Amino acid sequence: MNSEKGWEKALQEAVTSPEELWYLLELDPNLLPAAKSAAKLFPLKVPRSFLARIKKGDALDPLLRQILPLDAEHAVVSGYTRDPLEEASVNPIPGLLHKYQGRVLFTFVGSCGINCRYCFRRHFPYAENNPGTQGWDKALAYIANDSSIHEVILSGGDPLIANDKTLAVFSEKLNAIPHVKRLRIHSRMPIALPERISSEFITWISQLKQKPILVTHCNHAQEINSDVKEAMQRLTKAGVVLLNQAVLLKGVNDNADALVNLSESLFDAGIQPYYLHLLDKVEGAAHFDLPLTQVQKLQSEMNQRLSGFLVPKFAYEVAGAASKQALIMQM
Ligand SMILES: *Cc1c(COP(=O)(O)O)cnc(C)c1O
Ligand code: SF4
Repeated sequence: MNSEKGWEKALQEAVTSPEELWYLLELDPNLLPAAKSAAKLFPLKVPRSFLARIKKGDALDPLLRQILPLDAEHAVVSGYTRDPLEEASVNPIPGLLHKYQGRVLFTFVGSCGINCRYCFRRHFPYAENNPGTQGWDKALAYIANDSSIHEVILSGGDPLIANDKTLAVFSEKLNAIPHVKRLRIHSRMPIALPERISSEFITWISQLKQKPILVTHCNHAQEINSDVKEAMQRLTKAGVVLLNQAVLLKGVNDNADALVNLSESLFDAGIQPYYLHLLDKVEGAAHFDLPLTQVQKLQSEMNQRLSGFLVPKFAYEVAGAASKQALIMQM
């Protein structure tokens, strides 16, 4: 975490070949052909520092399950579609999603530091929808024209794939719009590649005119190692509000112990649990889904075992709705 450009190099060196993943993690060779075939549907990508948190030789490791291409991804299951949120229709300008009141989501860059197999954007035409820096002015003009927009959310892809210079150019433009009070960044990078939280980044985020909020994406306590904790400490010191969103995933965190442990570990690292998303029904990820009765049971168990502020909102998205939908607890 010492070299400024370290994270860019680490990103380039992410593991993308199933053969190498098998070699490094000593996995069962019988499963390799299926992984190679599923990686053609959605590429394998995992930074080495994330890989180091996976237990060798354990095909059921909860971190491995999130990045491991499986045969099951070929299954065509009714109800699981390629664009489950119908995002194409709330896309006024390439890269900008204005779906909910008061905030816009800006898809800043087209790629991620890690490819999560359950991702609802695994089929998203990023290249076509990626505004690039030239496209920013249109998006910013749209925001400037609507004074009801108080919050800009950078999402993706993963916005922290962009380098600090790019972020600085963007926030300078954003500073010209006084009604934008908050800048929220949704990123899996602080977890997947904590090296990303460079001192240059800390300087940028601590000098923002808007109140900074960083929403991390962590699904299992085992993802939080000492590098992640250190990065979170530096962000907290810089005045950044840290929230986490997780996705409820079969084979990863689908038991009360794992979820309780996740909330406790996040809080220990200075991160407030925010959302626990139910899986978006995207083609190729049906094997991660859970029956609703089990979800409700997990929710009630978390309510019993955790302080109220450590229970994330169980939420799901409905195309066309005015907000994310909260799952109401069944007593
Ligand atoms: C999730 C989401 C937001 C943010 O919703 P919050 O409930 O405020 O976290 C904003 N825009 C879009 C398109 C979203 O999907
Ligand atoms: S980091 Fe987020 S957007 Fe990127 S692949 Fe994972 S879930 Fe999808």
